[in-house]
Amino acid sequence: MAGAELIGKEEIKEVMDVLETGIIMRYGFDKERKGIFKVREFEEACAKYCGVKYALGVTSGSAALKVALTAMNIGPGDEVIVPAFTFVATYEAVMEVGAIPVMVDIDDTLNLDPLEIEKKKTRYTKAVIPVHMCGSAANIDKITEIARKNKLLVLEDNAQGCGASFKGKKLGSFGDMGCFSFDYVKTVTTGEGGMVISNNRDLYLRSEWYHDHGHDHNPKVSRALEGRTILGFNYRMNELQGALGLAQLSKLDYLIGEQKKNKKFIMDVLAKVPGVGFRAKPDRDGDSATFLAFNLPDEKQAQKFQNLLAAEGVETVCYKRNLWHYVPNWEHFLAKSTANSKKYPFKDTSNKGKVKYLRKSIPYAEDILGRTLVMGISVKMSQEKLDSIRKGIEQAVKKM
Ligand SMILES: *Cc1c(COP(=O)(O)O)cnc(C)c1O
Repeated sequence: MAGAELIGKEEIKEVMDVLETGIIMRYGFDKERKGIFKVREFEEACAKYCGVKYALGVTSGSAALKVALTAMNIGPGDEVIVPAFTFVATYEAVMEVGAIPVMVDIDDTLNLDPLEIEKKKTRYTKAVIPVHMCGSAANIDKITEIARKNKLLVLEDNAQGCGASFKGKKLGSFGDMGCFSFDYVKTVTTGEGGMVISNNRDLYLRSEWYHDHGHDHNPKVSRALEGRTILGFNYRMNELQGALGLAQLSKLDYLIGEQKKNKKFIMDVLAKVPGVGFRAKPDRDGDSATFLAFNLPDEKQAQKFQNLLAAEGVETVCYKRNLWHYVPNWEHFLAKSTANSKKYPFKDTSNKGKVKYLRKSIPYAEDILGRTLVMGISVKMSQEKLDSIRKGIEQAVKKM
């Protein structure tokens, strides 16, 4: 649950600053807002934290992906490479801009396999979206290197990796653009919310215009007189979200530190279990420790262990059977059940139905996700709780 566990007086103070002025919108009302610009401050703090030049607050992580893809000029006729293991929003965002998601396999990091890029790209491919699942990095240096060599843009979906890093550099800052989610169950939460980051001024500006009806945000004129060059939509973050985000971001390093301690305790217990292995991490220290992923020699043993653990009150997730994070389980996506009846972009003439989503094209995911169990790590885990997990694991092992 992460950030939601730590909501307290700091969040209350930041939110009260906004409510005392009554100005909940991030733009305009310059006299009435008494110098309070929480979203702007939160963006600056995020950019600084991630070591990038630009950050733009938006309404959700899903919106962040759509805004970034739009800024990157991805649309109808384009293909975007996306891993088979991700939240459904990554695929939805690609389709929202009219492009086709191309499903590729993962490697032992559980994230996008860099070697899949050259295997699966076609003349329509424009971008790659590595997703840093469950708080730990993809082989992001290889991914960016191969993508650049093939002239493909990189958009990092870092919705689950807020605060995590790779060799000292924050995730989200490797690609042309990076996206974050601050929904209620993410590492940093603003209730609902998201962020787009970039070092590229042009991509940032196009995001900023698009997310607010094309407004150029010219500080010299009032909002009603601002210019516009492109059409947009509304994905603006509000001041209450900005206020929550500021308080939450100041707790992020503490939060990760606590999660690391709790994760280490449980990992040390699991490391003693015969046959148990752990997810590969390109940078162990960079892990945000939001989840612990471990594996068994085969799927049957993993299922048995999962059931035994559950009987002892220790809950784990097997993502091969999860309904929202693994493409082969998305019956509505596979049936091309778009919200309107037009089935676009699946009916795009450049696609001709040639992009397929078959289990046999992702053999590694089929194997590793079937025998991997994932446990959520909380910030607040009492010694009593940790001991009960340790006992639960030890009891389950006896019955294997
Ligand atoms: C949560 C999540 C999103 C979407 O974020 P929302 O803020 O819930 O819209 C996108 N991608 C991944 C990998 C996520 O986990």
